[in-house]
Amino acid sequence: MKITIRDVGKDYGPVHALDAVDLDVASGELLALLGPSGSGKTTLLRAIAGLEPIDRGRIAFGDLDATALSVQERRAGFVFQHYALFKHMSVLDNVTFGLRMRPRAQRPAREAIRRRGLELLSLVQLGGLEARYPNQLSGGQRQRVALARALAIEPRVLLLDEPFGALDAKVRKELRGWLKALHRELGYTTVFVTHDQDEALELADRVVVMNGGRIEQVDTPDAIVQRPASDFVADFIDARDAARGPEPLRVASSL
Ligand code: ADP
Ligand code: MG
Repeated sequence: MKITIRDVGKDYGPVHALDAVDLDVASGELLALLGPSGSGKTTLLRAIAGLEPIDRGRIAFGDLDATALSVQERRAGFVFQHYALFKHMSVLDNVTFGLRMRPRAQRPAREAIRRRGLELLSLVQLGGLEARYPNQLSGGQRQRVALARALAIEPRVLLLDEPFGALDAKVRKELRGWLKALHRELGYTTVFVTHDQDEALELADRVVVMNGGRIEQVDTPDAIVQRPASDFVADFIDARDAARGPEPLRVASSL
């Protein structure tokens, strides 16, 4: 399902959180929104999901104009950094929540819902953990439950806002590789927010660099690194390199 975003604007008082944003996400693409804190990444993702009403512009999923549709009608699957699971529900009940909440006419039979939930748990490599509660899982496992929950509704698009942001570096890197493999297998059109350049460059088919509510550049990871379209993009990429600190070798050779 392709996503078409045309001239989208959103203000918070005097702040242009989104300013004339045009973006096409190809069907099946994994697109990263990259930019510093406050650049509008979350606002854009929430606007696509229907969680944030926009002031100007249009958003379409395929041929469907989604601009005026509710969150439920848009059927986007989302995972947020702190989008907590329901604590009082088992892992399986968390995953099947969206299906169980459907109006009766659209709701699969109880046994079919259970089967689908178990399939999804095995897909995110949590088979056998269906009876656990969220507080009995690691952070990485919880985010995989959240992802299974997002997939359960057979979303038109998948929207991820720094889903691994709260996890430690090692788990984060593992989940990155795992998400890429899962995306290859399932092929959902996916928009992934991160402020981590490495994450964007490693995962995405294309990277969108945002700055102050505007898009600076949309390009493949290689093109972003080799041919930054503006000083901002060049500086942002450089700044991130610098923030990671010098390589041990470079320290040694400079001494
Ligand atoms: P990012 O996700 O890139 O860090 P956001 O989309 O969260 O950026 O924020 C973009 C801008 O909009 C920032 O200036 C932020 O302070 C502002 N903003 C976001 N949400 C709100 C809100 N609910 N009320 C007021 N200002 C907001
Ligand atoms: Mg954000």
